[in-house]
Amino acid sequence: MLHTLTITQAHAKLKKKDISSEELVRACIDRTEAVDKSINAIVHRSFDRALLEAKKIDEQGVTSHPLCGIPYFAKDVYCEEGVPTTACSNILRNKNYCPPFDSTTTKRLKAAGAISLGKTNTDEFTMGASTETSCYGVTRNPWDTTRVAGGSSGGSAAAVAADEAFFALATDTGGSIRQPAGYCGMTGIRPTYGRTSRYGVMSMASSLDTIGPICKNIEDLAIVLQAIAGKDTMDGTTSDTAVPDYHATLKNGVKGMKIGLPKEYFIDGMNSEVEGAVREAAKALVSLGATMHEISLPHTKYATPCYYVLCPCEVSSNMARYDGVRYGHTVENPADLLDYYVRVRSEGFGPEVKRRIMIGTYALSAGYFDAYYRQAQKIRTLIKQDFMEAYKKVDVIISPVSPTPAFKVGAHENDPVAMYLEDVFLDGQVMAGIPALSVNCGFSNDQLPIGLQIMGPQWGEETVLRAAYAYEQATEWHKQKPSL
Ligand code: GLN
Repeated sequence: MLHTLTITQAHAKLKKKDISSEELVRACIDRTEAVDKSINAIVHRSFDRALLEAKKIDEQGVTSHPLCGIPYFAKDVYCEEGVPTTACSNILRNKNYCPPFDSTTTKRLKAAGAISLGKTNTDEFTMGASTETSCYGVTRNPWDTTRVAGGSSGGSAAAVAADEAFFALATDTGGSIRQPAGYCGMTGIRPTYGRTSRYGVMSMASSLDTIGPICKNIEDLAIVLQAIAGKDTMDGTTSDTAVPDYHATLKNGVKGMKIGLPKEYFIDGMNSEVEGAVREAAKALVSLGATMHEISLPHTKYATPCYYVLCPCEVSSNMARYDGVRYGHTVENPADLLDYYVRVRSEGFGPEVKRRIMIGTYALSAGYFDAYYRQAQKIRTLIKQDFMEAYKKVDVIISPVSPTPAFKVGAHENDPVAMYLEDVFLDGQVMAGIPALSVNCGFSNDQLPIGLQIMGPQWGEETVLRAAYAYEQATEWHKQKPSL
């Protein structure tokens, strides 16, 4: 049962030499082989390579770094030298693209001694909220395999929930860490924009994309964030703001902490089980010594519409590099260069990517730029100001992660707007560039996990983690496991 351990527990056993890193890697491989058929979380396996690395670590001796010898999976957008990385898109899968370099994040993890097991499923180029746009098919929720695991990082969340690895790397542009973590009963953090490096992670929307982990509990989340955070000379948008020691303050509790409940996040028609669980979580935080304050974030209703203008604009620009000339899908006997591009991109991209390229190109065109792109950027500033005002009064803000628990596979088929509305509580933080995490706060009557979102001010990961840790320790939700 080694696969069921947390990072902290596995590290303690490694240090005492009760177990080896090779045993941990083998436990994750066996577990993945046993259960992944029913959830489809993993799209590339680097198992032989992982075993070799584990043996090397065992020979050299496990260091005091809490991630040394610990296996993990990365979302299929993190480049690793020589490992297939396809963004779950046929445009890269068809030629089995293997990057010639490592992302900063996987490099930092390697330096700490963590061992990559391979890649997890995602919506194509991370566009979606269910993994249903992946060219490898949907990932199913370990708590109920008729339901989605969420998205786009559904593979990462499901893999951790199913104990296939001790943690997984994910990305959050408009909720893709928090929503799948919430749907799978795991915990995941979207850090402040600029806290983690995007270098070597395939971009969707460069001014919105963030890099973060999904873990089994908050202590593990703090450990992984610590290992990957900080300035990177390869990503000019990372900040040299000092990275605090998250572990040092994690257990300081919430006594005297001011917590905001935004009235705009408790909307009419909201699922009563979700609302109930979040309100109970608020009470639990009060009983731990925090104070609760109703606040207002007046521009909340514009966050998702604004996201779905800005995100496609950046998508239309970022996707331009996939032209079949240097790498990826190619076609035979083109009539001319235009025919080549048209066929490569028509065959390689799926419908959601094409939809966003078209919307983004339209919104950026000379005649519509002012009406859509510029207007959305102005609204983005207003949303950011809402949060800045709120953080003058409170330390953190809480809300649900999603309006409902995980939905059925196919429920939003042919309805892209219904899928976009999945992010309704998750786009404001993106516009503001602030950190936010999800932590399990209960289960629906159908035994589906419900996520609590905790948001902090810019660079406030420390406070967010501290609040989440206090809550988690006072509850038993994180100890439950799906029966797979
Ligand atoms: N659901 C959102 C979208 O489709 C979020 C995606 C993400 O964060 N990568 O854009």
